[in-house]
Amino acid sequence: MNSTIQAIRGMNDILPEQIPRWQQFESIIRDWVAAYGYNEIRTPIVEQTGLFKRAIGEITDIVEKEMYSFADALNGEALSLRPEGTAACVRAVIQHNLLYQSPQRLWYSGPMFRHERPQKGRYRQFHQVGVESLGYADPDMDAEHLVMTADLWRRLGLSGIALELNTLGDTDARTRYRARLIAYLEQHRDQLDDDAKRRLYTNPLRILDSKNPAMQDMADAAPKLYDDLDDAAKTHFDTVQTRLRAHGIEYRINPRLVRGLDYYNYTVFEWVSDQLGAQGTVCAGGRYDSLIEQIGGKPAPACGYALGIERLLTLMDSAGIPLPARQLDAYVVHNGDIASPYAWQLAHSLRQSGLNIILHCGGGNFKAQMKKADASGARFACIIGDDEARTETLTLKPLRCASEQTKCTLNQAIILLKSRD
Ligand code: ATP
Ligand code: MG
Repeated sequence: MNSTIQAIRGMNDILPEQIPRWQQFESIIRDWVAAYGYNEIRTPIVEQTGLFKRAIGEITDIVEKEMYSFADALNGEALSLRPEGTAACVRAVIQHNLLYQSPQRLWYSGPMFRHERPQKGRYRQFHQVGVESLGYADPDMDAEHLVMTADLWRRLGLSGIALELNTLGDTDARTRYRARLIAYLEQHRDQLDDDAKRRLYTNPLRILDSKNPAMQDMADAAPKLYDDLDDAAKTHFDTVQTRLRAHGIEYRINPRLVRGLDYYNYTVFEWVSDQLGAQGTVCAGGRYDSLIEQIGGKPAPACGYALGIERLLTLMDSAGIPLPARQLDAYVVHNGDIASPYAWQLAHSLRQSGLNIILHCGGGNFKAQMKKADASGARFACIIGDDEARTETLTLKPLRCASEQTKCTLNQAIILLKSRD
């Protein structure tokens, strides 16, 4: 028995009927990043595994258990499908010396790969748009990122996405805090689950954002990192908040927000929707001033964030955001020995004038072809029989309203088809 081959679990086909939503989203994204002066960068989907280990950190969900890693069959090199976009973006900026001239506002978009348990809003291949500002130490850049994401929700037509904000301070603050936190967690060792016990001395901050209901009260009552911040970190955080208030952007400070990746310092944030169940975070990021140096570049501050495209599209679908109408102007039906070659020429001329045309393929009588024309969604059927071919005319029949059909020349047809209202 032949078994059929299926796509890999958690990796989805995006079918033609879903494409209009994706394209609508992508077109809004392009206008949005342009409005803020960000330039696109495209990096490979496969990188050396070492890049992600260094950038994301060894004791993280991603590096410990979510990466698709393999040895190159030819030379044994350790490679991984990218689980996120920041590491490769920073690698490329260092490799091509992009920070030499000026700081960089960059964005990227594309598929990411993580070996997680597939469920609604959580896939093994998913798509992100990411934004990175490299070479900026000023809290105004953290604020710019938050203001621009708030603006994106408006452009997408989405409401009800809430901002959660925190600061992780600098390395010294986190070292001081780590010690206090470990002491606290040791006192509550009986309440820690297996993951938390494993991370107690390797990545204790991560225990704070555990979703395990049994640990919530204990995590809520944990000491707060804010008390370990120095004045510079507090001022930075205050400036970000002042900008947010000036722009009327509401936020909640969440002291347990620490993010899953090791590279963050100072500002961290998540935008969360209450309409997506457990997979509610649609955007996350923050400042990562030590990452560039960690990957081998000359030290430079930076911050950035990534959006989960699938989760945002789900929100757009359930909010009923209308899709742009499909722009198929005419479906050319043709029958007859003289008609068909003429129909080919005519379809070509219509396309050259900027119209979107399907030329019927596969024969059949006019009635059967008209059914196809109707199902295509085209605004007009363009009917060509031997009679039209001989007189170099064509018949245009509106398919979406009750108007009469008209017989006309090619030029008249172009004018009529281009009046798209
Ligand atoms: P989560 O806590 O949901 O696992 P994360 O902290 O691992 O998220 P990030 O690495 O910050 O996620 O990625 C940024 C965004 O990308 C997330 O907020 C989410 O919208 C999206 N995202 C992350 N992982 C997935 C996935 N497996 N499937 C779909 N979207 C995802
Ligand atoms: Mg995750």
